[in-house]
Amino acid sequence: SAKEYGRNCYRFYSEELTSLAADRLSLERDLRGALARGEIFPVYQPQIEFGTGRVTGAEALMRWRHPKRGLVLPADFIPIAEDSGLILSLGEYILRESCRQARQWHDRHGFDAVVAVNVSAVQFRQNDFTDAVSRVLAETGLLPERLELEVTESVVMQGVESAVQKMRVLDDSGIKIAIDDFGTGYSSLSYLRNFAVDRLKIDLSFVRDIPHHTDANAIVGAIVTMGRGLGSRVIAEGVETEAQAQFLQSVQCDEGQGYLYAKPMNATDFEAWLKTSNSGSI
Ligand code: C2E
Ligand code: MG
Ligand code: MG
Ligand code: MG
Repeated sequence: SAKEYGRNCYRFYSEELTSLAADRLSLERDLRGALARGEIFPVYQPQIEFGTGRVTGAEALMRWRHPKRGLVLPADFIPIAEDSGLILSLGEYILRESCRQARQWHDRHGFDAVVAVNVSAVQFRQNDFTDAVSRVLAETGLLPERLELEVTESVVMQGVESAVQKMRVLDDSGIKIAIDDFGTGYSSLSYLRNFAVDRLKIDLSFVRDIPHHTDANAIVGAIVTMGRGLGSRVIAEGVETEAQAQFLQSVQCDEGQGYLYAKPMNATDFEAWLKTSNSGSI
Protein backbone atom coordinates (compact mmCIF):
# COMPACT_ATOMS: atom_id res chain seq x y z
CA SER A 1 0.00 0.00 0.00
CA ALA A 2 0.90 3.60 -0.30
CA LYS A 3 1.28 3.85 3.46
CA GLU A 4 3.74 1.01 3.56
CA TYR A 5 5.59 2.41 0.60
CA GLY A 6 5.84 5.71 2.41
CA ARG A 7 7.17 4.05 5.53
CA ASN A 8 9.82 2.17 3.56
CA CYS A 9 10.78 5.35 1.85
CA TYR A 10 11.13 7.09 5.15
CA ARG A 11 13.20 4.29 6.60
CA PHE A 12 15.47 4.24 3.58
CA TYR A 13 15.86 8.00 3.72
CA SER A 14 16.64 8.00 7.41
CA GLU A 15 19.17 5.18 7.10
CA GLU A 16 20.87 7.05 4.33
CA LEU A 17 21.02 10.19 6.46
CA THR A 18 22.41 8.24 9.38
CA SER A 19 25.15 6.74 7.27
CA LEU A 20 25.97 10.16 5.80
CA ALA A 21 26.19 11.65 9.27
CA ALA A 22 28.34 8.75 10.47
CA ASP A 23 30.62 9.19 7.50
CA ARG A 24 30.97 12.85 8.23
CA LEU A 25 31.72 12.18 11.87
CA SER A 26 34.40 9.65 10.98
CA LEU A 27 35.95 12.08 8.49
CA GLU A 28 35.94 14.81 11.13
CA ARG A 29 37.59 12.50 13.66
CA ASP A 30 40.28 11.55 11.13
CA LEU A 31 40.77 15.17 10.13
CA ARG A 32 41.54 16.10 13.74
CA GLY A 33 44.79 14.16 13.63
CA ALA A 34 45.58 14.59 9.94
CA LEU A 35 47.87 17.58 10.31
CA ALA A 36 49.97 15.99 13.05
CA ARG A 37 50.25 12.80 10.99
CA GLY A 38 51.56 14.79 8.02
CA GLU A 39 48.61 13.91 5.77
CA ILE A 40 47.83 17.51 4.73
CA PHE A 41 49.83 19.21 2.01
CA PRO A 42 49.53 21.85 -0.70
CA VAL A 43 49.68 21.23 -4.43
CA TYR A 44 50.50 24.10 -6.76
CA GLN A 45 48.94 25.19 -10.05
CA PRO A 46 50.63 27.77 -12.28
CA GLN A 47 48.95 30.99 -13.39
CA ILE A 48 49.98 32.11 -16.87
CA GLU A 49 49.98 35.49 -18.56
CA PHE A 50 48.34 35.32 -21.99
CA GLY A 51 50.58 36.47 -24.79
CA THR A 52 53.89 36.15 -22.97
CA GLY A 53 53.34 32.75 -21.36
CA ARG A 54 55.03 34.11 -18.26
CA VAL A 55 54.25 32.38 -14.96
CA THR A 56 52.73 35.07 -12.76
CA GLY A 57 51.72 32.92 -9.83
CA ALA A 58 51.25 29.53 -8.25
CA GLU A 59 47.99 28.79 -6.48
CA ALA A 60 48.32 26.54 -3.45
CA LEU A 61 45.46 24.04 -3.16
CA MET A 62 45.00 21.87 -0.08
CA ARG A 63 45.07 18.09 -0.31
CA TRP A 64 44.52 15.36 2.25
CA ARG A 65 46.22 12.00 1.82
CA HIS A 66 43.90 9.80 3.89
CA PRO A 67 45.46 6.46 4.92
CA LYS A 68 42.35 4.46 3.91
CA ARG A 69 40.37 6.68 1.53
CA GLY A 70 43.31 7.88 -0.52
CA LEU A 71 43.43 11.45 -1.80
CA VAL A 72 40.53 13.53 -0.47
CA LEU A 73 39.64 16.75 -2.32
CA PRO A 74 38.72 20.05 -0.63
CA ALA A 75 35.04 19.78 -1.56
CA ASP A 76 34.83 16.73 0.74
CA PHE A 77 36.69 18.06 3.77
CA ILE A 78 36.89 21.89 3.74
CA PRO A 79 33.21 22.25 4.80
CA ILE A 80 33.85 19.86 7.71
CA ALA A 81 37.03 21.74 8.58
CA GLU A 82 35.10 25.02 8.56
CA ASP A 83 32.23 23.76 10.73
CA SER A 84 34.59 22.23 13.29
CA GLY A 85 37.06 25.11 13.41
CA LEU A 86 39.85 22.82 12.20
CA ILE A 87 40.22 25.11 9.15
CA LEU A 88 42.15 27.56 11.37
CA SER A 89 45.08 25.23 11.93
CA LEU A 90 44.85 23.63 8.47
CA GLY A 91 44.70 27.03 6.76
CA GLU A 92 47.62 28.40 8.73
CA TYR A 93 49.64 25.31 7.89
CA ILE A 94 48.99 25.68 4.14
CA LEU A 95 49.83 29.38 4.37
CA ARG A 96 53.13 28.74 6.16
CA GLU A 97 54.12 25.83 3.94
CA SER A 98 53.32 27.80 0.74
CA CYS A 99 55.29 30.84 1.91
CA ARG A 100 58.22 28.67 2.97
CA GLN A 101 58.15 26.91 -0.41
CA ALA A 102 57.91 30.15 -2.42
CA ARG A 103 60.86 31.58 -0.48
CA GLN A 104 62.87 28.44 -1.18
CA TRP A 105 62.03 28.54 -4.92
CA HIS A 106 63.07 32.17 -4.91
CA ASP A 107 66.40 31.45 -3.23
CA ARG A 108 67.23 28.38 -5.30
CA HIS A 109 65.85 29.39 -8.69
CA GLY A 110 64.95 33.09 -8.63
CA PHE A 111 61.20 32.32 -8.62
CA ASP A 112 59.63 35.80 -8.54
CA ALA A 113 55.93 35.06 -9.06
CA VAL A 114 53.35 35.23 -6.28
CA VAL A 115 52.16 32.27 -4.30
CA ALA A 116 48.37 32.48 -4.02
CA VAL A 117 46.77 31.00 -0.91
CA ASN A 118 43.03 30.45 -0.40
CA VAL A 119 41.62 31.92 2.79
CA SER A 120 38.38 30.65 4.30
CA ALA A 121 35.81 33.12 5.59
CA VAL A 122 36.26 31.45 8.99
CA GLN A 123 39.98 32.33 8.98
CA PHE A 124 39.47 35.82 7.63
CA ARG A 125 36.92 36.61 10.34
CA GLN A 126 39.47 36.01 13.16
CA ASN A 127 40.48 39.23 14.88
CA ASP A 128 44.14 38.31 14.71
CA PHE A 129 44.07 37.21 11.07
CA THR A 130 46.30 39.98 9.72
CA ASP A 131 48.77 39.49 12.59
CA ALA A 132 48.90 35.77 11.90
CA VAL A 133 49.73 36.46 8.25
CA SER A 134 52.50 38.92 9.18
CA ARG A 135 53.94 36.38 11.60
CA VAL A 136 54.09 33.72 8.88
CA LEU A 137 55.82 36.15 6.49
CA ALA A 138 58.37 37.06 9.16
CA GLU A 139 59.01 33.40 10.00
CA THR A 140 59.43 32.29 6.40
CA GLY A 141 61.17 35.42 5.09
CA LEU A 142 58.84 35.72 2.10
CA LEU A 143 58.36 39.27 0.84
CA PRO A 144 54.76 40.44 1.33
CA GLU A 145 54.59 41.29 -2.41
CA ARG A 146 55.09 37.61 -3.18
CA LEU A 147 51.99 36.53 -1.25
CA GLU A 148 48.48 36.78 -2.62
CA LEU A 149 45.45 35.90 -0.51
CA GLU A 150 42.44 34.57 -2.41
CA VAL A 151 39.15 35.42 -0.75
CA THR A 152 35.62 34.95 -2.04
CA GLU A 153 32.95 37.60 -2.15
CA SER A 154 31.24 35.84 0.76
CA VAL A 155 34.18 36.92 2.92
CA VAL A 156 33.51 40.53 2.06
CA MET A 157 29.77 40.26 2.46
CA GLN A 158 29.84 38.80 5.98
CA GLY A 159 30.85 42.24 7.19
CA VAL A 160 31.85 44.82 4.61
CA GLU A 161 33.36 47.30 7.04
CA SER A 162 35.59 44.93 8.99
CA ALA A 163 36.54 43.09 5.80
CA VAL A 164 37.52 46.31 4.05
CA GLN A 165 39.49 47.33 7.15
CA LYS A 166 41.46 44.06 7.09
CA MET A 167 42.00 44.32 3.32
CA ARG A 168 43.48 47.78 3.85
CA VAL A 169 45.89 46.53 6.51
CA LEU A 170 46.98 43.69 4.22
CA ASP A 171 47.25 46.05 1.24
CA ASP A 172 49.31 48.55 3.24
CA SER A 173 51.77 45.82 4.12
CA GLY A 174 52.17 44.99 0.42
CA ILE A 175 50.25 41.69 0.40
CA LYS A 176 48.15 41.08 -2.73
CA ILE A 177 44.44 40.35 -2.65
CA ALA A 178 42.47 38.35 -5.19
CA ILE A 179 38.71 37.93 -5.31
CA ASP A 180 38.11 34.24 -6.06
CA ASP A 181 35.11 32.75 -7.89
CA PHE A 182 34.19 36.23 -9.04
CA GLY A 183 30.67 36.56 -10.45
CA THR A 184 29.09 33.82 -8.35
CA GLY A 185 28.52 35.81 -5.15
CA TYR A 186 25.38 37.70 -4.24
CA SER A 187 27.31 40.76 -3.31
CA SER A 188 27.00 44.28 -4.47
CA LEU A 189 30.01 45.50 -6.40
CA SER A 190 30.47 48.58 -4.27
CA TYR A 191 33.12 47.01 -2.05
CA LEU A 192 35.42 46.99 -5.07
CA ARG A 193 35.64 50.77 -4.75
CA ASN A 194 36.87 50.57 -1.18
CA PHE A 195 40.24 48.96 -1.67
CA ALA A 196 42.59 47.93 -4.44
CA VAL A 197 41.92 44.38 -5.53
CA ASP A 198 45.00 43.07 -7.28
CA ARG A 199 43.25 40.32 -9.19
CA LEU A 200 39.74 39.26 -10.05
CA LYS A 201 39.43 35.54 -10.70
CA ILE A 202 36.59 34.73 -13.10
CA ASP A 203 34.77 31.66 -11.82
CA LEU A 204 35.27 28.51 -13.83
CA SER A 205 31.51 28.07 -14.29
CA PHE A 206 31.63 30.96 -16.78
CA VAL A 207 34.90 29.90 -18.34
CA ARG A 208 33.49 26.41 -18.99
CA ASP A 209 30.85 27.84 -21.33
CA ILE A 210 32.98 30.12 -23.49
CA PRO A 211 33.26 30.65 -26.43
CA HIS A 212 30.06 28.87 -27.53
CA HIS A 213 27.53 30.40 -25.13
CA THR A 214 26.80 34.04 -25.84
CA ASP A 215 25.64 34.65 -22.24
CA ALA A 216 28.92 33.40 -20.75
CA ASN A 217 30.87 35.35 -23.36
CA ALA A 218 29.04 38.53 -22.40
CA ILE A 219 29.59 38.00 -18.67
CA VAL A 220 33.27 37.20 -19.07
CA GLY A 221 33.77 40.22 -21.33
CA ALA A 222 32.00 42.49 -18.85
CA ILE A 223 34.04 41.21 -15.88
CA VAL A 224 37.28 41.81 -17.78
CA THR A 225 36.25 45.33 -18.77
CA MET A 226 35.16 46.19 -15.25
CA GLY A 227 38.18 44.62 -13.57
CA ARG A 228 40.66 46.33 -15.82
CA GLY A 229 38.76 49.59 -15.46
CA LEU A 230 39.24 49.33 -11.69
CA GLY A 231 42.96 48.70 -12.15
CA SER A 232 42.85 44.98 -11.28
CA ARG A 233 44.35 42.20 -13.29
CA VAL A 234 41.80 39.65 -14.41
CA ILE A 235 42.51 35.92 -14.41
CA ALA A 236 40.27 33.13 -15.67
CA GLU A 237 40.21 29.86 -13.73
CA GLY A 238 39.49 26.45 -15.21
CA VAL A 239 40.92 27.16 -18.68
CA GLU A 240 40.91 23.78 -20.42
CA THR A 241 40.91 24.48 -24.16
CA GLU A 242 42.80 26.55 -26.68
CA ALA A 243 39.46 28.00 -27.86
CA GLN A 244 38.76 29.32 -24.35
CA ALA A 245 42.25 30.80 -24.11
CA GLN A 246 41.84 32.51 -27.47
CA PHE A 247 38.50 34.01 -26.52
CA LEU A 248 39.89 35.22 -23.18
CA GLN A 249 42.83 36.82 -24.90
CA SER A 250 40.54 38.46 -27.44
CA VAL A 251 38.61 40.21 -24.65
CA GLN A 252 41.91 41.31 -23.02
CA CYS A 253 41.79 38.97 -20.05
CA ASP A 254 45.28 39.13 -18.52
CA GLU A 255 45.91 35.61 -17.30
CA GLY A 256 44.65 32.06 -17.22
CA GLN A 257 44.90 29.05 -14.95
CA GLY A 258 43.74 25.55 -15.76
CA TYR A 259 44.39 22.09 -17.11
CA LEU A 260 45.34 23.57 -20.52
CA TYR A 261 48.58 24.71 -18.88
CA ALA A 262 49.02 22.32 -15.99
CA LYS A 263 47.13 20.43 -13.31
CA PRO A 264 47.90 21.19 -9.68
CA MET A 265 51.21 19.47 -8.80
CA ASN A 266 53.06 18.58 -5.63
CA ALA A 267 56.04 20.80 -4.78
CA THR A 268 58.61 18.54 -6.45
CA ASP A 269 56.64 18.21 -9.68
CA PHE A 270 55.83 21.92 -9.74
CA GLU A 271 59.52 22.77 -9.46
CA ALA A 272 60.33 20.36 -12.30
CA TRP A 273 57.50 21.81 -14.38
CA LEU A 274 58.84 25.33 -13.87
CA LYS A 275 62.26 24.31 -15.11
CA THR A 276 60.91 22.85 -18.34
CA SER A 277 58.18 25.40 -19.02
CA ASN A 278 60.63 27.91 -20.55
CA SER A 279 58.63 30.57 -18.73
CA GLY A 280 61.66 32.61 -17.83
CA SER A 281 60.64 32.44 -14.19
CA ILE A 282 63.20 29.86 -13.23
P1 C2E B 1 39.33 27.54 -6.06
O1 C2E B 1 40.23 28.29 -5.18
O2 C2E B 1 38.41 28.33 -6.93
O3 C2E B 1 40.28 26.60 -6.91
C1 C2E B 1 40.05 26.23 -8.25
C2 C2E B 1 39.66 24.77 -8.36
O4 C2E B 1 39.58 24.42 -9.74
C3 C2E B 1 40.66 23.80 -7.75
O5 C2E B 1 39.92 22.70 -7.23
C4 C2E B 1 41.46 23.35 -8.96
O6 C2E B 1 42.08 22.08 -8.77
C5 C2E B 1 40.38 23.28 -10.00
N1 C2E B 1 40.87 23.43 -11.37
C6 C2E B 1 42.03 23.98 -11.79
N2 C2E B 1 42.11 23.95 -13.13
C7 C2E B 1 40.97 23.39 -13.57
C8 C2E B 1 40.47 23.10 -14.90
O7 C2E B 1 41.07 23.37 -15.93
N3 C2E B 1 39.22 22.53 -14.94
C9 C2E B 1 38.50 22.22 -13.83
N4 C2E B 1 37.31 21.66 -13.99
N5 C2E B 1 38.96 22.49 -12.57
C10 C2E B 1 40.17 23.06 -12.46
P2 C2E B 1 40.29 22.03 -5.82
O8 C2E B 1 41.78 21.94 -5.70
O9 C2E B 1 39.49 20.79 -5.70
O10 C2E B 1 39.79 23.10 -4.77
C11 C2E B 1 38.42 23.41 -4.69
C12 C2E B 1 38.17 24.59 -3.79
O11 C2E B 1 38.55 24.27 -2.43
C13 C2E B 1 39.01 25.81 -4.14
O12 C2E B 1 38.42 26.51 -5.22
C14 C2E B 1 38.97 26.57 -2.83
O13 C2E B 1 37.76 27.26 -2.70
C15 C2E B 1 38.98 25.44 -1.81
N6 C2E B 1 40.37 25.28 -1.31
C16 C2E B 1 41.42 24.63 -1.86
N7 C2E B 1 42.53 24.73 -1.10
C17 C2E B 1 42.18 25.49 -0.02
C18 C2E B 1 42.89 25.97 1.13
O14 C2E B 1 44.09 25.77 1.32
N8 C2E B 1 42.16 26.72 2.03
C19 C2E B 1 40.85 26.99 1.82
N9 C2E B 1 40.19 27.72 2.76
N10 C2E B 1 40.15 26.57 0.75
C20 C2E B 1 40.82 25.84 -0.17
MG1 MG C 1 41.37 29.91 -5.27
MG1 MG D 1 47.21 46.05 -3.34
MG1 MG E 1 37.81 29.77 -7.76
